[in-house]
Amino acid sequence: MANTGQSQIVHWVNNKPFHGSSGATAPVTNPATGEVTREVVLADTADAQAVIEAAAAAFPAWRDTSLAKRTAIVFRFRELLNERKEELAAIITSEHGKVLSDALGEVTRGQEVVEFACGLPHLVKGGFTENASTEVDSFSVRQPLGVVGIISPFNFPAMVPMWFFPIAIAAGNAVVLKPSEKDPSAALWLAELWAEAGLPDGVFNVLQGDKLAVDELLSHEAVKAISFVGSTPIARHVYATGTANGKRVQALGGAKNHAVILPDADLDLAADAMVNAGFGSAGERCMAISAVVAVGGVADELVAKIAERAGSIKTGDGTRGCDMGPLVTAAHRDRVASYVDAAERDGAKIVVDGRQVRADGGEDGFWLGPTLLDHVGTGMSCYTDEIFGPVLSVVRVETYDEALSLINSNPYGNGTAIFTNDGGAARRFHNEVEVGMVGINVPIPVPMAYYSFGGWKSSLFGDTHAHGTEGVHFFTRGKVVTSRWLNPSHGGLNLGFPQTA
Ligand code: NAD
Repeated sequence: MANTGQSQIVHWVNNKPFHGSSGATAPVTNPATGEVTREVVLADTADAQAVIEAAAAAFPAWRDTSLAKRTAIVFRFRELLNERKEELAAIITSEHGKVLSDALGEVTRGQEVVEFACGLPHLVKGGFTENASTEVDSFSVRQPLGVVGIISPFNFPAMVPMWFFPIAIAAGNAVVLKPSEKDPSAALWLAELWAEAGLPDGVFNVLQGDKLAVDELLSHEAVKAISFVGSTPIARHVYATGTANGKRVQALGGAKNHAVILPDADLDLAADAMVNAGFGSAGERCMAISAVVAVGGVADELVAKIAERAGSIKTGDGTRGCDMGPLVTAAHRDRVASYVDAAERDGAKIVVDGRQVRADGGEDGFWLGPTLLDHVGTGMSCYTDEIFGPVLSVVRVETYDEALSLINSNPYGNGTAIFTNDGGAARRFHNEVEVGMVGINVPIPVPMAYYSFGGWKSSLFGDTHAHGTEGVHFFTRGKVVTSRWLNPSHGGLNLGFPQTA
């Protein structure tokens, strides 16, 4: 599967590998060893056009395939994925670095969306009004858009594409997936699985590449919609360019997720949650907690409890039963470490220093251990920026109102959480906080597939979140039909605006 024996990771078109002709490539590394394991081809404009045009050619027949046949293929895909998800998890660990159990969790959360898409016939049912006017009926349908582009980030190479493509495909669209060039093999594995599930040629395609490939998806006339997930500056660019070119765009961006710990919280529960949400997947999750807001005197005890737990985390190769893997690239590791250096210079207290980690993995792996910073000021770069690494910053405040105002004045609004035993405080928080996904004593409040995933403010451009009914809405467009089955000669001339009668 996924050409795993080959040294080159290529595109996937019409249910087979496609090499393209750009000649450009990028290295793909195993972050736990630092070794370049393979290379990925990078599309030029002509390669991207070839992939998009294959999808456009496949669309009409797929659109006209019955819902029953389309969803039968999605069911089959779900069965194959469920049987073989360990294979996919191993691919994710080898290129992303996250530990195997976490990679398997990622696949399982993606699978939930596949299961949701199996029920698509129910979700695209229209309405019908008999005799809306005398002998006139009215009904609504939802139809697919055409070719849709999915552009995904490195941190969830399987789950994030799966937020979108099961629904897009079940709804009758043709898909071009442009995965991250840092971990591109998961997309190919999924493409092979679709072929095995019986998806017709050209309905699911993979375009490998970087900015050039994205630019073509944003400008090609055949592409009708773009689902993007990645950092905020690129999300903003994708949204502005795609919509200027007349496309429907949902662009999910970066995050700076705060957890508020109130004085009445169960501090053991909160400390466990902060460690899991701060250091899981080495902090490379858009729903990771990176700012811990300790309210009214809980900080000393909370910091001690987090430090104790952080000290017991085993950092190392994701295939060796460790708790936390490496960062995705050497450059990213260095960037994250530079935020810790800056925090130290700015006067934060380094309670746990991940720069000193002794990892159970390759000498040249991209290691940085769990890092805990206390007395972090809101002007420090470790607080203002999305670090996207295993660094938890503790900010101390006196009151709930101060905590809320920190969150509501932050440019991001992806996820947040509150830890408390006071139902009234929790209720007030979920009502007042300006964030798209809220956890109450739950640190990573990722909605189930039948709800929709997405943040507010600079964490999402566009008004449609991923999956759930919003996802169905995004990948279909509505049409309303008004019909009369009378002898047309009964109508007569009437230049007035249609009215019910
Ligand atoms: P990224 O923005 O660097 O890349 C995302 C995608 O955009 C990739 O496919 C990449 O090839 C492409 N890209 C990169 N530079 C581009 C450019 N100049 N023009 C056009 N396309 C370009 O993001 P990343 O580093 O892969 O992922 C991490 C980021 O994604 C973090 O900011 C994280 O918060 C965010 N993220 C957000 C969510 C969410 O749901 N909001 C989920 C996962 C990740």
